[in-house]
Amino acid sequence: MRLGLFGGTFDPIHCGHLRSAEEVREAFALDEVRFVPCGVPPHRSDRPGAAARHRLEMVRLAVAGNPGLSVSDLEVTRPGASYSIDTVRHFSGRLAPGDELYLILGLDAFLLIGSWKAWRELLTLTHVIVTSRPGFGDTLPYDQIPVVVREAFCYDSVRFGFRNESGKEILFKRLTDVSVSASTIRELLGKGKSIRELVPSEVQRYVQDQHLYYESPEC
Ligand code: ATP
Repeated sequence: MRLGLFGGTFDPIHCGHLRSAEEVREAFALDEVRFVPCGVPPHRSDRPGAAARHRLEMVRLAVAGNPGLSVSDLEVTRPGASYSIDTVRHFSGRLAPGDELYLILGLDAFLLIGSWKAWRELLTLTHVIVTSRPGFGDTLPYDQIPVVVREAFCYDSVRFGFRNESGKEILFKRLTDVSVSASTIRELLGKGKSIRELVPSEVQRYVQDQHLYYESPEC
């Protein structure tokens, strides 16, 4: 099995995330892309706008109609901060011979990887697919890779990617631009504006029914 893991806060999940997962699944012939919403994000000082159970449910609703996409509650149910290394250890420890694991990261997230907990070990356990994101450049130039990460990898001109001694690769995928972010969606909702067509209709209905992201009136 070729399994992709797509981590994030998904606060809420939107069409940029979904299109990204679909294009990566197709381009790298993955059997499945599994969304892994984080419980407690370790790299964000501000708390997510919606509780983990709501973010998880919105991802469930968003992927329900696509057999190539799924969701894991691993990080939401694990106590403490959600570190990717714990998640990657979990999935890599359960691979059968011949299985391959791919961690999918937007370019903005990848550029911070040198600050992640146990990132060296992480890069020996999984391949990484770095995806473009509107506003963050269209390629993965060598000089944008954090120096500490660069030192552990060599460029492979056949694969157009980087490979380390464990045989794990860092590959880049240029995606169709879908210029939407979760923060924009939260902002729109805070102003009482529509988020239709930025998120799947099931997610839009859930946000509405659960009254998520609406700022409470000031006292
Ligand atoms: P926020 O605006 O709150 O920072 P976000 O929209 O960036 O949220 P995250 O859950 O933080 O959403 O992102 C998870 C992953 O999805 C990250 O790797 C990020 O780069 C990627 N991503 C988010 N939005 C897009 C998009 N529009 N196109 C491509 N990738 C995206």
